[in-house]
Amino acid sequence: MQITNTLSGRKETFEPASLPVRMYVCGLTPKNEPHLGHARLFVANDVIRRYLEFRGYPVKYVQNFTDIDDKTIEAAKRENTTAAEVARRYMDGYFRDMDALGVRRADEFTYVTQFMPQIIDCVQQLIDKGHAYTLPGENGVDQDVYFATATFPEYGKLSKRDEEAMQAGARIEPDERKRDPRDFALWKSAKPGEPWWDSPWGHGRPGWHIECSVMAMATLGEQIDIHGGGMDLIFPHHENEIAQSESLTGVSPFARYWVHTGLLQLGDEKMAHSGKFVTIRSVLETVPAPALRLYLLGQSYRTQFTYLAEQVAATVTRWRRWVEARQSAERALAAQQTSADEISDAFADVREEFIAAMDDDFNTSRATAAIDDLVRRLNDLSSKKDASPADRRAGLALLDELTGVLGVALDPARDLRRAVSDADRVEIERLVAERSAARQARNWAEADRLRKELDERFGVVVKDSAQGSTWELK
Ligand SMILES: [Zn+2]
Repeated sequence: MQITNTLSGRKETFEPASLPVRMYVCGLTPKNEPHLGHARLFVANDVIRRYLEFRGYPVKYVQNFTDIDDKTIEAAKRENTTAAEVARRYMDGYFRDMDALGVRRADEFTYVTQFMPQIIDCVQQLIDKGHAYTLPGENGVDQDVYFATATFPEYGKLSKRDEEAMQAGARIEPDERKRDPRDFALWKSAKPGEPWWDSPWGHGRPGWHIECSVMAMATLGEQIDIHGGGMDLIFPHHENEIAQSESLTGVSPFARYWVHTGLLQLGDEKMAHSGKFVTIRSVLETVPAPALRLYLLGQSYRTQFTYLAEQVAATVTRWRRWVEARQSAERALAAQQTSADEISDAFADVREEFIAAMDDDFNTSRATAAIDDLVRRLNDLSSKKDASPADRRAGLALLDELTGVLGVALDPARDLRRAVSDADRVEIERLVAERSAARQARNWAEADRLRKELDERFGVVVKDSAQGSTWELK
């Protein structure tokens, strides 16, 4: 199995140090409603986790919440509440949306506000070892603590930036007091009106980077196997995590595989520039959650791609094809006298192709194409009355297995077409059947009249194919 490791810049054979595989993913800063970028990141890592398990590697998956941060504090001011309340509200939003998308919950969630003693201890150790230094804080009473990047010669090994570029980057926020422009805050002295914790350096709170280092090591040990996150975190966040963790423990590398998910862009550039985003919640009002998940898996996790509503609509159709293929195959199987003893390997090639695709750096684009192939062949069988029941059974079982690995539920109840009332549904089904009968009798005028009635009364569009007529809401 091959994984692209940002640290080496290459695809590498995956070999965990021991079992279970220890996986840490940089989680949510709960400062607003989770958006499609979050959906992409967490679905991608969920699939990595599921696929490792499918391949026989047990996984311990840890993810954090940055539940205190400049941005949660800002949001609290804006919304006239506390940072803790802001964090709680949007963490609830995270669980609501990720549950809908079929993202399995982490084995352990870590919350920054629950790790203060460990964070303070690690900052103190970095000072004791000469990797960090204090400076007087703005209020003249409390102190700031900075990491001394010059004490970590490998700084830059993840992002491959040279010293000059990093110094130039750091100069965007010049701070004359720092020993080196690349140095970053481990502990920030308290500002008026902001939450603070007591520490050897007075009142303050931790910097973002040290939090992840401490929470990852506290839950998974000094070396982890897979560290995940968005590509936007490579520098400085993950670069800084490496500097802190490796300086603290002397264990290198801190993470054996750095696995970065590409960013999802919005089609409307102006929206992206104004800092707006599309919330998961708003998309799920019109798109079945498993179809959105399938859309996000349509490209490999490393790809940067642009969210396009038309492509999502096409993916809803693709997902329905999978659901309907499953239903037709089940019906065809139920109509046959079958013996469950018969075994078929009619679809062994599809399973092999799926595994080859996923073994190649979790290529979900290719893996979902393999499922399309399976669906086509399953539909072929469904149209043949005398097809082998063992083949049908094998195809159905494989469809369930592979969509299970990707976490794409084929539950027809998740289809928003079902968002009509039961009474309406009965009436719609009756009219569609009546229209099919009219078509069979070549009564085109009546069929057209019924099509119009379905549209006007229910906003229903009827689609005709060789297999019969189906309907959906406009
Ligand atoms: Zn992090």
